[in-house]
Amino acid sequence: MSTAAPILLTPGPLTTSARTRQAMMLDWGSWDDSFNQLTASVCEQLLGILNASASHHCVPLQGSGTFAVEAAIGTLVPRDGKVLVLINGAYGTRLAKICKVLGRAFSTFETAEDDPTTPGDVDRLLREDPSITHVALIHCETSTGILNPLPEIAHVIAQHGKRLIIDAMSSFGALPIDAQQVPFDALIAASGKCLEGVPGMGFVFTHQQALAKAEGNSHSLAMDLYDQHAYMAKTGQWRFTPPTHVVAALHEALLQYVEEGGLQARHQRYADNCQTLLDGMASIGLRSFLPAAIQAPIIVTFHAPEDPRYQFKDFYERVKAKGFILYPGKLTQVETFRVGCIGCVDRSGMQAAVDAIAQVLREMEVLDI
Ligand SMILES: *Cc1c(COP(=O)(O)O)cnc(C)c1O
Repeated sequence: MSTAAPILLTPGPLTTSARTRQAMMLDWGSWDDSFNQLTASVCEQLLGILNASASHHCVPLQGSGTFAVEAAIGTLVPRDGKVLVLINGAYGTRLAKICKVLGRAFSTFETAEDDPTTPGDVDRLLREDPSITHVALIHCETSTGILNPLPEIAHVIAQHGKRLIIDAMSSFGALPIDAQQVPFDALIAASGKCLEGVPGMGFVFTHQQALAKAEGNSHSLAMDLYDQHAYMAKTGQWRFTPPTHVVAALHEALLQYVEEGGLQARHQRYADNCQTLLDGMASIGLRSFLPAAIQAPIIVTFHAPEDPRYQFKDFYERVKAKGFILYPGKLTQVETFRVGCIGCVDRSGMQAAVDAIAQVLREMEVLDI
């Protein structure tokens, strides 16, 4: 067991900087002015990343990312609305399940896990069923790392006069999205992904007009984004106990985001990480599941070695002992494992991870090099 803190090559929680963790060493009062300013500053900066300050609200919500997805569906889809859920992985499936649990009518369109949804598909589906009011899309489907063509799909949806809800949990902050170019009612992200904060809060960027019309839609008190926003707009405070340390850590993470060079620099570092990983793994004979053209630089799915001596659990534990935390695969048809490219890690960290993986596979006598 390595005594140093491990590097998390996972899509959240992920490796954070010492500075971000240090920002959690202070206790904050939820009524305190300086804490409320922290929240306001975080929301303002987040809106800036999307170029959405003029058109959208940032509504933060306590909880993991799924809480924010559920809150967005419950708040923005009226009870007589109907959601078309575009699925090519586990997070799309989860979104459909949220609609089901909340009692919102929905239909699904599912493609294979290595097959992005196309704007043509969405156009056809919206023609076929005029009762659809909203479309829900996963931008980067983290179960494989596949990137769906968000801007093209968003335009088709707008042409049909329908509303778009985007789960951009694993892409926001790293992949460019411009709210003035990509029309949407809601975009959902969280503290503990590409912004490199700690987990514990999500946020929903809601179109101002869409949120204004959403009063009373929600089935839930705690998950009502309309109320959450109204209360915060009036008082500057969170409606219920805020995740104070998470907000403080995110504020510090955002300072570092700007210092690094903002979205472009973050994107570049992750793209570098991803390429280092792909090249390194290819050099030891490990193949990635997705073709390069649809691979987002967020997380990479690899085929497991075809060798009876390979067992994920054993492999995982041995790599962990060398200081790196990997992620199991999420595919049903093929045996895979995943390696994240996001978090406070750079090219040299990724190369060290590849070296550790190679060493472990040699120890397991899976790799003959
Ligand atoms: C991480 C993630 C979520 C949220 O998952 P939680 O476990 O609730 O934080 C949702 N969608 C996508 C695409 C994600 O990567």
